[in-house]
Amino acid sequence: MTKVASARDRILGKLRRRIKGTVLPSESLSKHTTYRIGGDAEILASAADSDDAAAVYRFARREGIPLTVLGAGSNVIAPDDGIEGIVLKLENPHAAIRFSSDGTVHADAGVPVLVLARTAAKKGLGGLVPIAGVPGTVGGAVLMNARVDKEDTASLLVSVEVLTSSGKRRTFRRNEIPFGYRTSIFKGSDWMILRAVFDLHPGDPIHLLEEIEHEWNTWRANFPLEPPNAGSVFKRPPGDYAGRLIEEAGCKGLRVGGAVVSDRHANFILNTGDATAADIYELISEVRRRTYEKTGVYLELEQIPLDSSD
Ligand SMILES: Cc1cc2nc3c(=O)[nH]c(=O)nc-3n(C[C@H](O)[C@H](O)[C@H](O)COP(=O)(O)OP(=O)(O)OC[C@H]3O[C@@H](n4cnc5c(N)ncnc54)[C@H](O)[C@@H]3O)c2cc1C
Repeated sequence: MTKVASARDRILGKLRRRIKGTVLPSESLSKHTTYRIGGDAEILASAADSDDAAAVYRFARREGIPLTVLGAGSNVIAPDDGIEGIVLKLENPHAAIRFSSDGTVHADAGVPVLVLARTAAKKGLGGLVPIAGVPGTVGGAVLMNARVDKEDTASLLVSVEVLTSSGKRRTFRRNEIPFGYRTSIFKGSDWMILRAVFDLHPGDPIHLLEEIEHEWNTWRANFPLEPPNAGSVFKRPPGDYAGRLIEEAGCKGLRVGGAVVSDRHANFILNTGDATAADIYELISEVRRRTYEKTGVYLELEQIPLDSSD
């Protein structure tokens, strides 16, 4: 056994003793991202709950192992040459959801937004319909300040609990957290979101569930998950739409390898089967170049490139 392989086996063993979730070596990131691309995570640890997440985070920090946090992988571009160290996968439909008597719901970061909205609705609690169409987790929605309808994630929040880089838990109330369009103070930081608390209001369970299904089905009909994609590639420039500008630049249907600009939504890049991250980046550059030349607008990336050495 090589030194590298035995070091990895030691880390695998230590992680498996520390968490309830699974720990896998050489796991393809294509199974964990909605683009269905990416090389292997050197180690992929799936958290069963926020205690698992905190244990992996602290372990990686203490041992000096690079750590990459992943929710549902619905807004990321995973590198072709994989990711060194530990990828901590939080998405888990069974992660904890707790209801409080004051009408709030406390959800672990790994809970899919749709699961949270449905669970609350069954208890006769509404308020999450505006984000029910987001195909990501609570943590990803907070970090990206996701929005599908009139309200963004930030406007529904009461507080967010994070693990700071020193491994301490801290809770921030909504008004202490700067949020922006598709961004929050957590983006680009090395803090991990552990849990979020949302403000809910009473409603009729059947009616709420119908609203949520309607929201999800409408958004999936307009923005399907197949062929594989990661949602909007570029942010909306002030006063305009990235899709409109890309279409004006004649980029619909533009292709590099297995990656193609959607004919339906110009701001979506689709993986037609064998796209690589390199294909996607080359297509992004070409779309940017053509759009800038045609319209004078330089488009800013919304999707998040994951680094091989994150
Ligand atoms: C078909 C489709 C439609 C979409 N439509 C919309 C839409 O209408 N509106 C919208 O806003 N978005 C949309 N998206 C984008 C995406 O679903 C959202 O940005 C979502 O909030 C990402 O959540 P995630 O759990 O998948 O995060 P990921 O993609 O897994 O991660 C995104 C970033 O957050 C970090 N991260 C994730 N969880 C944590 C955590 N707990 N702590 C710290 N960092 C974390 C990751 O490291 C990464 O940098 C769409 C995507 C697809 C595929």
